[in-house]
Amino acid sequence: MRQLIAGNWKMNGTGASLLEIEAVARDMTDHPPQCDVLICPPATLIARAAWAAKGCVPIGAQNCHAEISGAFTGDISAEMLKDAGASAVIVGHSERRQYHGETDAMVAAKAKAAWRAGLTAIICVGETENERLDGRALHICSSQLAGSVPQGMNAQNTAIAYEPVWAIGTGRTPTNDEIAQVHTHIRAELTQCFGAEGEKTRILYGGSVKPSNAKEILALGNVGGALVGGASLKAADFSAIFNAAAVKS
Ligand code: PEP
Repeated sequence: MRQLIAGNWKMNGTGASLLEIEAVARDMTDHPPQCDVLICPPATLIARAAWAAKGCVPIGAQNCHAEISGAFTGDISAEMLKDAGASAVIVGHSERRQYHGETDAMVAAKAKAAWRAGLTAIICVGETENERLDGRALHICSSQLAGSVPQGMNAQNTAIAYEPVWAIGTGRTPTNDEIAQVHTHIRAELTQCFGAEGEKTRILYGGSVKPSNAKEILALGNVGGALVGGASLKAADFSAIFNAAAVKS
C-alpha cells in the first residue's frame, strides 16, 4: 500500500506561500517519494496552487458544502473545488466539528458530495482528551465512523484520518501503542462495514506529526499515511515527512 501524506494548511497562506508548493514540487521531481502527497491550502489558493504545483503535487481542499450550488453565501461546493484544481477534500476535521457545529450527518453528506464531484474524501474522526481519559476513545471513533462514512465508500474515493483532538497543534502525540490500537480498531470497523474495500482503505494518523516522529508513526501497523497541519507549511519539514514514508505490504 502506498501511504498518503496530506498537508492541511488550515487558515494559513497567501500568494507568497506558493513558493513552498513550488519547493515541494521540485523536491518530488528530484527525489520521487514512495508515497502519495497532497497539499490542502485555503480555498483562495487552490487554483494558483494547482498551477504552481505543475502537475507534481496534487492539491486538495479543507472543506466543502454538500450541495452543488445555490443560495449558500460564503460556501463552496465540491464541484467548484474540483473545477479550481482540487483532487481531494478534507471533511469533518475536528476544527469544523468544534467551531462550525458539523455533525456526523453533515460530514457524511459532505463526503458524498466529494464523491459526486470526483474528489477523494478524507474523513476525520478522533476523540477529545476527556473522552480518552474516560476510556471512550475507541467508542467515539466507532460512533463517528458509523455516522460520517457513507455507504459507497471504497479505498479509492476515501481515506480516513484518525486525529485525536488533543494532539492537534499541541506537540503532544499518543504513544505508538495507542496509535496502533486505534488504527487497528478503525481497520476492523471498516472491514466489517465495507469488506475488502475497508481492508484497503488508507487510515491516516494526524496530530503533531513532524519530521522527528514521522518515520516511527508511519511504520506502525494499519497507519496508511499522515494528515499534517503545522509541519506542512514549510516545504523542508513537509518533504522530510513524506520522504520518511515507505511502501507497506
Ligand atoms: C491537522 O490540522 O489536521 C493537524 C493534524 O495539525 P497538526 O499537525 O498541527 O497537529
